[in-house]
Amino acid sequence: MATDFDSWIMQPAVPGVEQSPVFGIFALLMKVDVRKLTFAELQDWFATRRHPAFRSKQVHEWLWKKSATSFADMSNLSIALRNELSEAFEIKAITVAEWQKSSDRTIKTAFKLCDGPVVEGVLIPTTSRMTACISSQAGCSLTCKFCATGKLKLLRNLDAAEIYDQVAIIRKQSETQYGIPLSNIVYMGMGEPLLNYKNVLESVQKITSPDGLGMSPQRITVSTAGIGKMIRKLGDDEVKFNLALSLHAANDEKRSQIMPINESNNLDEMAASLRYFYDKTGTRPTLEYIIFKDFNDSLEDAAQLERFVRRVPSKVNIIEYNPTGDGLFERATETQLDLFSNYLEKKGVIVNIRKSRGRDIDAACGQLANKNKAAHHALKES
Ligand code: SAH
Repeated sequence: MATDFDSWIMQPAVPGVEQSPVFGIFALLMKVDVRKLTFAELQDWFATRRHPAFRSKQVHEWLWKKSATSFADMSNLSIALRNELSEAFEIKAITVAEWQKSSDRTIKTAFKLCDGPVVEGVLIPTTSRMTACISSQAGCSLTCKFCATGKLKLLRNLDAAEIYDQVAIIRKQSETQYGIPLSNIVYMGMGEPLLNYKNVLESVQKITSPDGLGMSPQRITVSTAGIGKMIRKLGDDEVKFNLALSLHAANDEKRSQIMPINESNNLDEMAASLRYFYDKTGTRPTLEYIIFKDFNDSLEDAAQLERFVRRVPSKVNIIEYNPTGDGLFERATETQLDLFSNYLEKKGVIVNIRKSRGRDIDAACGQLANKNKAAHHALKES
């Protein structure tokens, strides 16, 4: 039989905390991150304390619609309620450690997570778009040879709120710095989004929900180095956002050389999983292809790429290589880039050439590796 002491200790101080003696004690000592609660759990908390139901809606709105990072900001709640909330909960928001503006107006921000790691996000203004490029992990477990983040150890996954915070902050930068609303989001910063699947999908939900930032999923692109199983899962989950695959070579031998993930997720697997994704969602994936001098820039490489495109309804983004300081690769020449893209276009492939942005501040694709002072990222052993 439970003693009074047992029942007291077993009582979760707040919903969402597991009922075990250990958790019970922790819950008394530690505050719970309010953004980990579902709306239903938040409603329960208010109901248990006999607060009117609309209060939970107000708090939910402050958190996910107005991106509040402190209970003190919740101006339509009484001071007493704000205090009650701060006693029970915390908001583990990310903070801006530093930010830099490039000569081409690109803004790179170093975000500090509450337990120390730093991740980076970028605002990329073009004539037609304001795009936020955000991180899904601190560091990365993959080892793509051309990518600066690939040299860092994986520290941890970001939670949904930490991914959401990057968007909220960059969205504000877009408005305050340029007076233009954020229009697009790409999960192309640090990390492999499909190895942090649940949190990435939850963050998209918060960003797109009418109870959140209300952005269109069609303006969101998740980029992956290619995890076949998870690409299929995106299809099963019938996601509404866009998918990009970092292909970079349409030949298994070459792709394995620069992306070790290709050994377990080869081109056949990529074609099959992308086809599955397309059949389930009706969304044509984008194939990203960094063009490296004398490695994958010949007309034979273009012909292999064209054959791959035939296997999956898709479009191709050719990306200029951004040097990461190790001298392993070089950027293809303009002439070769033209020959390569003309070849594909003549064959009817939809091709876009993505010019590099923010290179002077290391904000371009693949350059996010925390050269800034705020970061102390451990490198993988070589
Ligand atoms: N892990 C995911 C998302 C991060 S990388 C992925 O692999 O897709 C985002 C994009 O930047 C990918 O297309 C990636 O291949 C590209 N990229 C990485 N390093 C680069 C570099 N040095 N130059 C240009 N693009 C790079």
